[in-house]
Amino acid sequence: MSFTLHGVAVSGGIAIGHAHLISHAGLDVPQYKISKNQIEAEVERFDHAIHATLEDLKVLRNSIPASAPAELDAFLDLHIMILSDPTLSSAPKELILKEQCNAEWALQQQMNDLVAQFDQVEDAYLRERKADVVQVVERVLKSLLGHASPIPSVPVTSILVAHDLSPADMMLFKQHPFGAFITDIGGTTSHTAILARSLNIPSIVALHHARSLIRDRELIIVDGSQGIVIVNPDKTVLAEYKLRQNQWELEKQKLKRLKTTRPTTLDGTEIELHANIELPEDIADVKANGATGIGLFRSEFLFLNRRDLPGEEEQFEAYRKVAEEMNGKPVTIRTLDLGADKQLFGSEDVSANPALGLRAIRLCLAEPQLFHTQLRAILRASHYGRIKLLIPMLSSVAELNQTLHLIDHAKGSLAEENIPFDANMLVGGMIEIPAAALLAHIFARELDFLSIGTNDLIQYTLAIDRTDDRVAHLYDPLHPAVLELIAYTIKCADKAGVPVSVCGEMAGDAKLTRLLLGLGLRQFSMHPAHLLGVKQQILHANLPEIAQQVNRMLKMEDPEKMRSCLLRLNA
Ligand code: PEP
Ligand code: MG
Repeated sequence: MSFTLHGVAVSGGIAIGHAHLISHAGLDVPQYKISKNQIEAEVERFDHAIHATLEDLKVLRNSIPASAPAELDAFLDLHIMILSDPTLSSAPKELILKEQCNAEWALQQQMNDLVAQFDQVEDAYLRERKADVVQVVERVLKSLLGHASPIPSVPVTSILVAHDLSPADMMLFKQHPFGAFITDIGGTTSHTAILARSLNIPSIVALHHARSLIRDRELIIVDGSQGIVIVNPDKTVLAEYKLRQNQWELEKQKLKRLKTTRPTTLDGTEIELHANIELPEDIADVKANGATGIGLFRSEFLFLNRRDLPGEEEQFEAYRKVAEEMNGKPVTIRTLDLGADKQLFGSEDVSANPALGLRAIRLCLAEPQLFHTQLRAILRASHYGRIKLLIPMLSSVAELNQTLHLIDHAKGSLAEENIPFDANMLVGGMIEIPAAALLAHIFARELDFLSIGTNDLIQYTLAIDRTDDRVAHLYDPLHPAVLELIAYTIKCADKAGVPVSVCGEMAGDAKLTRLLLGLGLRQFSMHPAHLLGVKQQILHANLPEIAQQVNRMLKMEDPEKMRSCLLRLNA
């Protein structure tokens, strides 16, 4: 029987293949009582499984291939940390002792307790971390039960169907490629979703019942762009999707040829295409996709998933590496955007609304020593390439002045020590709070460049938590208020003669390229995987024509009309 499932589209493309069900060890946990004289041996068996799983994770972490996504390292560290915590590595032993239950059962009970605690947490990002706990427990259970690796060698066209996939599984996945994967759980900010995007294969999450409804080896179609799974398709549907799949593959191949083509519109306007990175290791991807600079280096990723803070020397080396590797091309380093969903290890955010709390530049101004260390590291690296500094989450001119003062102070301290730096390093600001967009005329006058962070600009303009998938349907880049703020920011930057870019997810969405060009945008920064698709749009764009159409769109009030206009704009 053919049926269709709908989930959250994470990574585009079409895959057709046979389902390979990833077993969910948690489902088959044996539960039995042990006698008093078996307790010691059972505790030993438990300890052994924990130890073996920890060793496995460490081996995996140390053998990450260079081609694997940079996030894997951090995720494996997180899993090692979870497993090392006494709530998992010790508490179940108490249960074995007190309740005389087998090790698997004790571990499962402890996991259920922890998961229930996570369910009480209000923060969506933290709530999603319960999936990490479950994944770690499943690894230990597999070790206790003597299960093999969850990803045996099956054909490369196979489609993994899992309740959830752990980052460690994803690493094996990288070594034994599959056609696609689909999971029951995971929001758009789950680790699985983040990794999926960087692996660039079709994937869908939040399908809820895929794992229980789909049977092993059933033929399925995954449309990663639409978030649709078709199980047991009939002949006509199959033929249609094979055609679409070929077209998609052909497009991908064609796109590769654009790597060295200059991104110039039909009317001869040169557009700048820059890349967003999280870690220095991402540079390989940047080069492979022909970016002409780094438009956003999210420096806070150097600070995550570790117990200590990177010092000046370590930060300097990371920034210098990127500057040197980019060989004279611009590298825009954003100062720490910690807070909200990106917390330092061990620091607890007690505010009710962390996205509105002590985040980004607010945090840096409240912690001047932390900021000073980073500013010195960035300035020192500026001697080795074309570094630009970007300030996140500015909301007022007072904040800007305070920041500029601290930059001057860091420059002064380096000058005193005769340490070289680029005294003319450009300083820009992110426009991602409506207040900043409304004051764009002032920020454009006071700064060397602007960068529009549409992810947050949409979140704060529409009052929609970007990590909460229950309101994800309201997160609308085409909302007239959002477009108005983007248009105004670009206009102010143009008037002041300073460059302006968009570095949020809107910049990497090829369906929005023409719209942004029509709003006057000439500089885009995005995940490297999206660069060539956006470049293709640029090569076919005629700016004067587009500008007229977009001007008309800006006057529209009806979202439906707006969407059909966008379709016409992209036709
Ligand atoms: C943004 O808000 O659009 C942005 C680029 O910053 P981040 O996604 O890191 O918050
Ligand atoms: Mg932001």
